[in-house]
Amino acid sequence: MKIANGHELIQLFESWSPKSFALKDDPIGLHIGQLNSQVQNVLVTLDVTLDVVQEAIDQNCQLILAHHPPIYRPLKNLRTDTPSGKMFSLCIKHDIAVYAAHTNLDVAPGGVNDLLAEALELQQIKFLDETYAEPLMKLAVYVPSIHAKELRKQLGVVGAGQIGNYDSCSFSSSGTGRFKPLVGSNPVIGSLNSLEELEEEKVEVVFASSMKSKILKTMYAIHPYEEVAFDLWTLESKTGQQGIGRVGFLQQPMSLDLFAEKVKQQLNVPFVRVVGEATTIIRKVAVLGGDGNKYINTAKRAGADVLITGDLYFHVAQDAQALGLSVIDPGHHVESIMKIGVSEKMNKMCEEKKYACTFIASKISTEPFRQL
Ligand SMILES: [Zn+2]
Repeated sequence: MKIANGHELIQLFESWSPKSFALKDDPIGLHIGQLNSQVQNVLVTLDVTLDVVQEAIDQNCQLILAHHPPIYRPLKNLRTDTPSGKMFSLCIKHDIAVYAAHTNLDVAPGGVNDLLAEALELQQIKFLDETYAEPLMKLAVYVPSIHAKELRKQLGVVGAGQIGNYDSCSFSSSGTGRFKPLVGSNPVIGSLNSLEELEEEKVEVVFASSMKSKILKTMYAIHPYEEVAFDLWTLESKTGQQGIGRVGFLQQPMSLDLFAEKVKQQLNVPFVRVVGEATTIIRKVAVLGGDGNKYINTAKRAGADVLITGDLYFHVAQDAQALGLSVIDPGHHVESIMKIGVSEKMNKMCEEKKYACTFIASKISTEPFRQL
């Protein structure tokens, strides 16, 4: 086992929930401190409050992983006589780093929205709104025919040619390659100042753009030539689609009020606010943790009978009512489901990576409301 530093742990986390999944202008990443030190324990929390930082100190945590970014808007000052200033000051004093994973964690497979959809026991879960897709790239490389098989094989091994449920997909065409080695060259085939001709294969493969450097590195390693002739271009088609929110079906259709009761139990909240007729039949459910006011039209278009989201505004509730979309608002704090979800996932990943680090779910509730 190895004691990892903050960078290594964040790299591991981002291999699951990359920054590229975040929505535009979301202030994610390292907010407080530094990641160079060794980290034995990480506290996972929904919000960073003074109590949460004290908990991190008590639990010997060197890093806090939070869903809500503590610095959401740029700071105008850093006064230590304000609640947030006290919190920042305590972090700095105890050298505790704070890293925020917000919409990237909402979007990530197995992230906040999947955890909510699973807690609601939804079936055939899909994302509600596509927010991320990666362009496909295509490589066409010219290689002596006798080396083509090995090149195709190794490109396949590093992930080129993955199309749906197939891997190692490639296309080859044969032809004649020509070249004349000049002074300063060191040709594997052919000799100085003499035009060479030989049978070559053009190997074509597609891959996700994020794999580009790995694919090119493999191509250069396997290809026998000093100078490799290849074409590389970005395609219109995309891959690796991800999205925010989830939509899925109930195992058994039920009335809105019965479902709202179930939501209370499944998401462990004392009350919910409900928009819609009590007897409306619910089959398809959209869920978006946090503030999903912008998603009522998306949920309706996705064919959902009900949207479960927090922080519902009065006028948005009226709009949903007019659209014929039911809404259940269980509050924003249901996102605290991420504390255990992220801790379990990261502890498993640390074990696989042989990192001696424990992710601890914060025991502090940051729910500001109580019900009377
Ligand atoms: Zn939130």
